[in-house]
Amino acid sequence: MSTRSVNIVVPEMAENSKVSVPVNEADRGDPEEIDEVLIPARAFECRNCPNDLKYKSTFIDRPDYTRVEKPNTQRKVLCGSSDLGYFIWVRSSKGTFYDWETFGGAGWNWDGTMENLGTGGHLQITHAELVPELVAFPRIADRLNDIKEYVQTKKDNGGKDPFGPAGKPYFEVDFVPLFPDAFQWHFPVPNEGNWLTVIADLMRPVSKPGFVTLQSADPLVDPYINITFLENNLDEVALREGIRFIDDMLMTGDGFKDSISEDDPWPIPRNLNEEMGKLILEWSQTGFNPCGMYRPSRNIKEDVVDEQSKVHGFKNLRDIDASVFPDIPDCKNPECCLHGW
Ligand SMILES: Cc1cc2nc3c(=O)[nH]c(=O)nc-3n(C[C@H](O)[C@H](O)[C@H](O)COP(=O)(O)OP(=O)(O)OC[C@H]3O[C@@H](n4cnc5c(N)ncnc54)[C@H](O)[C@@H]3O)c2cc1C
Repeated sequence: MSTRSVNIVVPEMAENSKVSVPVNEADRGDPEEIDEVLIPARAFECRNCPNDLKYKSTFIDRPDYTRVEKPNTQRKVLCGSSDLGYFIWVRSSKGTFYDWETFGGAGWNWDGTMENLGTGGHLQITHAELVPELVAFPRIADRLNDIKEYVQTKKDNGGKDPFGPAGKPYFEVDFVPLFPDAFQWHFPVPNEGNWLTVIADLMRPVSKPGFVTLQSADPLVDPYINITFLENNLDEVALREGIRFIDDMLMTGDGFKDSISEDDPWPIPRNLNEEMGKLILEWSQTGFNPCGMYRPSRNIKEDVVDEQSKVHGFKNLRDIDASVFPDIPDCKNPECCLHGW
């Protein structure tokens, strides 16, 4: 049972006792018996244990480099991944909502979503202030303009920036105190000192979309998941320059340079393109924000649900999780979008 079902549908059921909702869970039917499910602060203990779907996933699948990993976490039980989220929330840029409109119609564009993702939705989301368009920070176009591959791709794209058309941001930069275990289980936590992880998220990669293939009609058999990260070499180039931009800011910027003293687990090869590329292949990770598995569509030949999230061919069946988002929101916040939507 997904985030939105629990947080939105269940309270509404409390107001209308005539409604009944069948609950179909991936495995265990006894969430009330599991402390890690009932106590939100213990949610992370579900990771990599029997309450985790622990998907095996191909992250990178290139002729020169392949990386298959397990576990790709998704909570198996009540509330799915929602209790694992960090509740980071930044509203998407206008351009992204206009892309959503292509699939879902006017109800999915900037104006159509304003009501629910602003202040009028089922759950109130308190913002600092809604900005009409995300200010692209950091923009690295100046650095990319020196790179032949980027210049050619932009030209082929009719002069539009392939990473940030319509003013969309290139990167989200996450400053995470200590070690976020969900993203960095590969690295040992240092025994002493105060550490900060800075994650550079490329918001609009140009690699071809990943895919999931069902391997059996049995819902308990794992699907084949291929995320196709870095399939297009331009993503590697953009990440390299983005990491350098952030590295410069940390190592030379006022307010940062005096507080940061060393790299962990070892210095990044800042000035070497090839070595930086290797590091990106080895260290890149998912933000665990899958969505857009079946976008709004006109009929069943195109996809599963219509623009009101009703399953084609059924009268009273809706899908209400992040699968129906036409595309990933900027700053990868599907969960928080779900709460407002
Ligand atoms: C570590 C981490 C950090 C995150 N940080 C953020 C953040 O800061 N901000 C943000 O907005 N988002 C964040 N997210 C993403 C967010 O948690 C998810 O996008 C959101 O919870 C997805 O909601 P959903 O309703 O689509 O799916 P889920 O809440 O995952 O629900 C899917 C449900 O389907 C069930 N299920 C799966 N397979 C079957 C089956 N075969 N039969 C029956 N049931 C099945 C699952 O058990 C689950 O209960 C984070 C995620 C993770 C893992």
